[in-house]
Amino acid sequence: MGMNAKDRIKRMFDGKRIALIGIGVSNTPILKILLECNPRSLLICDRKEDLPEDIVEMARGRAEISVGDGYLEPLTEEEFDYIIPSPGIRRDIPEIEEAKRRGARIETETRLFLSLCKSRKVIGVTGTAGKSTTTALIGEILSKSGMDVWVGGNIGKPLISAIDEIGEESVVVLELSSFQLQDIEESPNISVILNIFPNHLDYHKSMDEYIRAKERIFLYQGPEDISVFNGDDPICMAISQRCTSRKAFFSMCSDDVEEGAFLKSGLEGRIFVRHKGRDFPICDLDEIRLTGRHNVANVMAASFVSIALGARPEAIREAVYGFKGMEHRMEFVGEIDGVGFFNDSKATIPESTIAALSSFREPVVLIAGGYDKGVGFDGLGKEIAARAVGLVLIGQTAGKIREAVLSSDPKFEGRIRFAKDLREAVFLAFEMARPYKGIVLLSPACASFDMFSNYEERGKRFKEIIYKIGACLGGEEKRAEVSS
Ligand code: ADP
Repeated sequence: MGMNAKDRIKRMFDGKRIALIGIGVSNTPILKILLECNPRSLLICDRKEDLPEDIVEMARGRAEISVGDGYLEPLTEEEFDYIIPSPGIRRDIPEIEEAKRRGARIETETRLFLSLCKSRKVIGVTGTAGKSTTTALIGEILSKSGMDVWVGGNIGKPLISAIDEIGEESVVVLELSSFQLQDIEESPNISVILNIFPNHLDYHKSMDEYIRAKERIFLYQGPEDISVFNGDDPICMAISQRCTSRKAFFSMCSDDVEEGAFLKSGLEGRIFVRHKGRDFPICDLDEIRLTGRHNVANVMAASFVSIALGARPEAIREAVYGFKGMEHRMEFVGEIDGVGFFNDSKATIPESTIAALSSFREPVVLIAGGYDKGVGFDGLGKEIAARAVGLVLIGQTAGKIREAVLSSDPKFEGRIRFAKDLREAVFLAFEMARPYKGIVLLSPACASFDMFSNYEERGKRFKEIIYKIGACLGGEEKRAEVSS
């Protein structure tokens, strides 16, 4: 035998008619693999008119390209064996439905990876917020524990390109979005559901559809596999009822668990993991360098997974202490004239901004607003009114957020400003925070697509603006200090 995963992919696609829908992070490595196969035909569809030069170059003479508004038309004109959509493409758009009716099967990077990966230690992390942080932290802990660790999925590079380097004893840590989970038929060996809040309602038809996609992370598990749920999240608890594999829970409120992570009553300052009847002390809360209570939950989830895989508590404690968080997530940028700046550009849902606001005791001026994903701002409005000393609004949702704040506290009006762009927002917020020697927090509660190409660009721009202000006001020294 000795067939490796790439050979199996080749056999699967040999002589087949294949369409890649969307050519981005997930499908580019798939295209590379397909070009080594021998498909009957290969088509790349993308709404974007200007595909990257390297894609066009790779496709030359070997794949058709269909771009622009009618990019999906070939799907209704020709026959296909496989449709390979990017995560963000809905599977029920008419052209894909039509292709399916005519016999096409859906395949994706995530499906291929899960079905071909040899590792028996695949960890999947999903949830509305905290996926990247928790995935990266698990990766750190297990690497520190000396394991052969592969981190990927929705974070970093898709691991399909490395599939043949991943062995039976390797550990794989995958961040999995609802988009990637929606059509999987194999689940990770250890699944984590961090929390479920309304999100992507511009994509998913309903909250129920979003939940159904997420719960696939454990739906295909065997009885020996483990699922880890947030015991403090009512939606997580409800869906845990449908899980038939081994269950574990993490909770900041209760230590009444058979398997999981908790703060022992009387010892609320310390995280414990309970696994197979034993309690392992992990670390004290003041040893966590990540900002905010919400990150305690993320550390708990990561600690349980690591203990279940045989990591030593001491290694977990060291890795947690060494983990300072990721760019664009509650990232400290610097201090100018007594005002601290935090970049939380990755906060693209109201719950993340609420978590960010409740992480500070200092007076906070919040910069929020952006692309409208169809989620409500009532809860956020209440938190802003209760916790912020000022609010600067940008983007499409500015008006909606203002209304939510005012319906909670009409007197807040005088503390709201509108800015035409991020630069103006930073200047206004700085001015408002200065008398308090407070915090300027970029935590938009919305995606960035109305003004930026993604949250990274938004966060980087925010930092650039601050560095410039710092340089003008002679804050250079402090900046060097804080970024070290
Ligand atoms: P994801 O990959 O799920 O988007 P990240 O780790 O990148 O999660 O964090 C995204 C945003 O959510 C950041 O603003 C972060 O501070 C916030 N966040 C992280 N964990 C939680 C949580 N458990 N509850 C609420 N917000 C959270």
